[in-house]
Amino acid sequence: MTFRIQFPMPGMIALTLVLVMGGCGGSDAIQQPATNASPLVDFTPVSPRMAKQPLMDDLRALSALDMEGRKLGSAGNAKARALIVERFQQLGLSPFGGGFEQPVTWHNSLCTNVVGYLPGTTNPGRTILFTAHYDHIGTRGGLICPGADDNASGSAAVLQLAAWLKAHPPAHTVVFCLFDGEEAGLYGSQGFVATPPAALPLASIDVVLNLDMIAQGTQGRIFVGGTSFTAPLKPHVVAAFGASKVRAVPDFENYDNASDQYPFMQRDIPFLFFCVGDDDPYYHTPQDTYESIPQVFYWATLEAILDAFLRLDVLAKLPLAPPSAPPRSPGTGQRVLNPHPWRHRRDSKLGHFIPFSPSEG
Ligand SMILES: [Zn+2]
Repeated sequence: MTFRIQFPMPGMIALTLVLVMGGCGGSDAIQQPATNASPLVDFTPVSPRMAKQPLMDDLRALSALDMEGRKLGSAGNAKARALIVERFQQLGLSPFGGGFEQPVTWHNSLCTNVVGYLPGTTNPGRTILFTAHYDHIGTRGGLICPGADDNASGSAAVLQLAAWLKAHPPAHTVVFCLFDGEEAGLYGSQGFVATPPAALPLASIDVVLNLDMIAQGTQGRIFVGGTSFTAPLKPHVVAAFGASKVRAVPDFENYDNASDQYPFMQRDIPFLFFCVGDDDPYYHTPQDTYESIPQVFYWATLEAILDAFLRLDVLAKLPLAPPSAPPRSPGTGQRVLNPHPWRHRRDSKLGHFIPFSPSEG
């Protein structure tokens, strides 16, 4: 995720200081953070459709140190992309014209998105997109930022969704987009929406499900954007997470311009955006590692997302109603987002950021 809404994060400065001091003092504890997702809650899904281990295997591979933080244009980024292309081939996805790698140029930067699809069985002319970005920020303070939560978590999840849906063919055509250049400013997704594959007109897209940072749920919850714009999507999300120990927070629209759903949102395409947001204490740091990921929370979140998808896929007609008209700036005509209601404080006991509720603020 790339925070395009700016707000003070004083804790980040403190964290940077700790990292610098850790480097001087030779402590390696900072590189090996303990998993810290709500240890009192067992998030294990009751009857999971997907297995946990293949999900973790993909996450580990994508967040390995030899991917060097997967920064746009880097050798590590190309290595991650090659891995994803290989997985798409193994899974038996279909490419659009030109193959799985779909290059786009945005702001003079070449981004290479990886895109494949499974044709729908009963509603092939309508499409549902699963999206996630595979790029990350490279290094910080000379240390590799593995980007395990951001966003190897979403990328590995999309690979597992593709594997499951290959074995259980969906009614709608499902497109799997792993975007490049998100951290640079949504470059890959902006380029994709500006020049989609010829066989995928934007008008055929019923809903976009974007997964960005879905693993590091230290508060046991996942924020869901998009439901207040396309209200008929909400009960399906609520029902899916109602069967899960993971708590969904729908109608959370404050991150909507911070990830790859935004270019679709700007074109009034319905979306759901799943993200742990500020609950991730390792956001854009070298501590965002495979070892830090709370595996069961992550797996359970993905199970609930698959459940939500299946509830939508069985519907004959999506998105049920057009997106509600959002407020727009009279000057620019662009959507006006809610002001960010959160401030941040550092909780000395939990050791990570927790949000003030508006009433506390
Ligand atoms: Zn990010």
